[in-house]
Amino acid sequence: MRKQIVAGNWKMNTNLAEGIELCSSIIAQLGATDKEVIIGAPYIHLASLVDLVNGSPVKLAGQNCHQENSGAYTGEISAKMLASLGLDYVILGHSERRAYFAENNQLLAQKIDASLSEGLKVIYCCGETLEERKSASHFEVVSTQIEEALYHLEVSSFVNIVLAYEPVWAIGTGETATSAQAQEMHAHIRSVLADKYGTEIANNTSILYGGSCKPSNAEEIFSQADVDGGLIGGASLKAEDFIAIIKA
Ligand code: PEP
Repeated sequence: MRKQIVAGNWKMNTNLAEGIELCSSIIAQLGATDKEVIIGAPYIHLASLVDLVNGSPVKLAGQNCHQENSGAYTGEISAKMLASLGLDYVILGHSERRAYFAENNQLLAQKIDASLSEGLKVIYCCGETLEERKSASHFEVVSTQIEEALYHLEVSSFVNIVLAYEPVWAIGTGETATSAQAQEMHAHIRSVLADKYGTEIANNTSILYGGSCKPSNAEEIFSQADVDGGLIGGASLKAEDFIAIIKA
């Protein structure tokens, strides 16, 4: 059975005190849940949040990592460093990383390898731009993002892989994919996984939807057969909204 997951992506938001406050509120309001709840916080918050989430159902994620373990890469943080904090997850391939930091599928394959070898679980993001959707190349774009970054992995690695479908045109824009569009792409992603790894792996891999997900639309999107939860940006910065999405 695949996990239902709701992961928050705080991006470059909150100072340390605000991050601690937000995380504390989420833990306080969460209660019992059968979903995996993850917070992707800024790097500098993580060491403080590790103690805070200890004993709660909340897991932590880095929002990125470098592909090397250590070395002369000023300003970078490695998967090894994240793992040394006891984190569970790292988000890789977010469209903002692809667009603003020129991350491509080949580089992401290296980051995925580095993360898995440090025992981190990877939330790998994929998704098309508006132009790609308008030109009807969205299925092909997403297939390529998966094939080039993940197809080199052994079957056994897939227990540590979560996918997040995030149409770029829906991220932070207030425009959400319809539940039918999300379901259609999630089914496609599952078929791409099945082509290479078989239906068992495909059926056991969680695929999250991300893109302007909020309390008012989460239930409809999460009710789709191939949608296993969400990666939540803006709405994860308000504890009440994030909790409402988790409960959707
Ligand atoms: C994201 O950045 O992963 C995201 C889904 O953002 P938002 O929910 O704000 O669209």
